[in-house]
Amino acid sequence: MKTFIFFFGPPASGKGTQIELLMKKASFKIISIGKLLREERKKRSEIANLIKLHLDKGELVPDEIVELIIDKELKKIGANEKIIFDGFPRNQNQLTLLDNRLKKISSKDDKIYAIYVRIDSQEIKRRLGGRRSCECGSTYHIEFNAPKKTGVCDSCEKKLFTRADDNSRVISERIKIFQTEFGPIMSYWKKKNILIEINGEQDIKVVSADIENELRDLKIIK
Ligand SMILES: [Zn+2]
Repeated sequence: MKTFIFFFGPPASGKGTQIELLMKKASFKIISIGKLLREERKKRSEIANLIKLHLDKGELVPDEIVELIIDKELKKIGANEKIIFDGFPRNQNQLTLLDNRLKKISSKDDKIYAIYVRIDSQEIKRRLGGRRSCECGSTYHIEFNAPKKTGVCDSCEKKLFTRADDNSRVISERIKIFQTEFGPIMSYWKKKNILIEINGEQDIKVVSADIENELRDLKIIK
């Protein structure tokens, strides 16, 4: 029996941390398309060149390339493996692709669920907007991880700055992109009755316990 979990959440939802915590409870194989693309990019292949071309221009990698890479990964899945898809699928095309592939490789008793770590727009803005960075690579948060002296790096004493990604216009844009991409996918999973919503605005440990409880009820973890 195989298990497939689509793990997703908006920017700053803490999805990555939650996947890491879950890995300590059971062994899941993580399929993260972002990571796979970065790995593929390092190789000397035709696909690698295509990936480079798009990523260097700051574009999304076309679905045909994503498809090739996902197919390679799906072929490696063992009979009783538990798979987490991290941030995939992220559009209607990829959703259809994955649905078709899963129909081929999965059997009736396989488990397929989607976990959505939900935080609202205001909380995303609060979390991302408070980030401060330093040239030395240190990062802070004005609320959750403040430096000792306001606006100054603890380790090198340089002045902290707000990364371009963290300014409010960019944040609003990222939220909009997330909603446009995942809105229809979420409705689809909801209709299929496989969507598990987790309140991501709680303490990290509580969020993690909620996820574990859900998966325990579904007999996915012990
Ligand atoms: Zn510094």
